[in-house]
Amino acid sequence: MLKISPLFSGSKGNCTLIRSAKVNILLDAGFGYRAIVGALAERGLAPKDIDAIVVSHEHTDHIGALPMWTKQTPTPVYAPERIADIIAQRVYFSDVNGIEGDFEVGDVTVSHCECFHDAECCFGYKFVCGADRFACVTDTGHVTEEILNFLRDAQAIMLESNHDEDMLRRGEYSYNLKQRILSPYGHLSNAQAAETLRKLSGSSVRQIILAHLSENNNNKELAFNAAVEACASCGAVEGRDVVIYVADQYKNEVTVCLD
Ligand SMILES: [Zn+2]
Ligand SMILES: [Zn+2]
Repeated sequence: MLKISPLFSGSKGNCTLIRSAKVNILLDAGFGYRAIVGALAERGLAPKDIDAIVVSHEHTDHIGALPMWTKQTPTPVYAPERIADIIAQRVYFSDVNGIEGDFEVGDVTVSHCECFHDAECCFGYKFVCGADRFACVTDTGHVTEEILNFLRDAQAIMLESNHDEDMLRRGEYSYNLKQRILSPYGHLSNAQAAETLRKLSGSSVRQIILAHLSENNNNKELAFNAAVEACASCGAVEGRDVVIYVADQYKNEVTVCLD
């Protein structure tokens, strides 16, 4: 059994709760500490109930709460080996475990794939418990065959749908920031997410959480519609063959269950 609850998702911060029958894992802790603790309390959990924090990369929107969290609670932190030293500088009483291969947290096996992002190192993750598989890929400027294969056998995925390209191009960001976001080492657009979903047609993926939306250069309708149209173009009807959610920056009540 796996239950996935996006708590906070977007350019201002990211944190996802993944629960099995035995363990609770946070994927990233990049939002206000108090807000994360509050969201966990709404789900009957305290920080001490979290068995591991798994970090995707070193950007603040993914690790902002780590200093405060690890000062209060010595939850083990897992981060890509290549940035373990950087993460260790942001952590107080927790051990930082460098990730190189698969590892286990209780009854959950965690594997990773390489993302392409303007960070020192960025990983997407897959959480496997028995036959249940959830994969998360955000913060990548493009999707490779390796990433597609990584996502393909999951029943539920969280996929970045960061921006609408036209909104970004016409928006107020500086030229350099626009180029950064649009680059192959930036963030996935709605169209790139849609193309990814088309390529995943015929795979195990049935539940899709669109994530890491930009508040300035996207909106939920655009992201959702692009994904729905992509699935429809492959004969998959939203609500029947696939279910698509759009994660919110501030308030998420959705929990995806696999069992
Ligand atoms: Zn990032
Ligand atoms: Zn990010």
